[in-house]
Amino acid sequence: MNPYPKNIASKLPQTGTSIFAIMSQMAKAHNAINLSQGFPDFPVSEKLISLVHKYMQQGFNQYAPMPGLPALRDAIAEKTRFLYSASYNPETEITVTAGATQAIFTAISAFIREDDEVIIFEPAYDSYVPAIKLCGGTPVNIQLKLPDYHIDWSEVKNRITSRTKMIIINTPHNPTGSVLSASDMQELDKITRHTGILVLSDEVYEHIIFDGYEHQSVCRYPELASRSLVMCSFGKTFHATGWKTGYCVAPENLMKEFRKVHQFVVFAVNTPAQHAIAEYIQDKNNYTNLGQFYQEKRDYFLKLISNSKFKVIPAHGTYFQVLDYSNISDESEMDFAVKLIKEKGVASVPNSHFYKNHRNNQTLRFCFAKNNQTLEKAAEILCQI
Ligand code: PMP
Ligand code: GLN
Repeated sequence: MNPYPKNIASKLPQTGTSIFAIMSQMAKAHNAINLSQGFPDFPVSEKLISLVHKYMQQGFNQYAPMPGLPALRDAIAEKTRFLYSASYNPETEITVTAGATQAIFTAISAFIREDDEVIIFEPAYDSYVPAIKLCGGTPVNIQLKLPDYHIDWSEVKNRITSRTKMIIINTPHNPTGSVLSASDMQELDKITRHTGILVLSDEVYEHIIFDGYEHQSVCRYPELASRSLVMCSFGKTFHATGWKTGYCVAPENLMKEFRKVHQFVVFAVNTPAQHAIAEYIQDKNNYTNLGQFYQEKRDYFLKLISNSKFKVIPAHGTYFQVLDYSNISDESEMDFAVKLIKEKGVASVPNSHFYKNHRNNQTLRFCFAKNNQTLEKAAEILCQI
């Protein structure tokens, strides 16, 4: 087909296809065990599935209210109060979204203008930068510091300018599994107090935290929360990434602007899924045991690969494990990851794709949200490399 118009100017000239789509597609093409894109390979709870079915059969199949089903917003308010002692008004301060991806895009679109600067920490989840750029904003990339991927707050302070409009944090952190501490949150609070800087806090792995660490939600810090939008994902929490359901909580003045955009990005979110989650989430065990469940998976995976040549980068959250392959190869992360798929049959994600300049640390990210048999098969291969 002849394209018309011919030389269309891309709004995102540096953006290719998401690395998650690329690696999952490659895993499929080569029949590799897919530990790349983050999604569980075990089923969603029967109970939750039957609830969706029930609500579909009962006829809850038309548009939900624009900000989300009242019963689900009430349940989110209760969950946020229970976990973080924070009070959000379900009427005006909670919006159900089509996953955290939409929440993030919506928040950035609602607040970022031409020439605004947004601080992000690298390695950074892939959806932040394109959203910032589409709004004409400038991402300001600050490197997390090795070996434990921590934030150097004095550097953050130095990089703030009169144009800084937002800081995006992510804890527990994808891809490294690092977690922010109470003192990190206090620093963030101090640095942004009495400024016009908003905080976007990506907390999709809020329940997937290990080794006795406690999730430091922005919601725990009232001053900080007063200028923050917090993003969560039911996809992670209920092993249902394909349902694309999540939410944003923020104070009323921010949520008012968020909803102005939300209504034209998606308007409303899948109705039967909202009904089902509203009921399922009443039982707190359905989310409070997730950390232990995934810690056992992480520990099992690490035990299985303990005799491999890969070096483990310690992680305290998410369902990802970063492994260093510098004892095995000098190749770039992408080259090594492709070889691992094509020649060995295991798919991972090259962490270089979470950096603007595709920085190579000779590390790959492996998702351990998998059945034990899947982990065993993958580990057997990794141990032979
Ligand atoms: N932020 C991070 C850090 C993620 O890892 C993901 C997805 N895995 C998202 C946001 C998007 O979440 P969702 O699938 O709910 O859109
Ligand atoms: N967040 C998931 C990951 O990090 C993938 C989500 C997606 O494919 N967009 O692998």
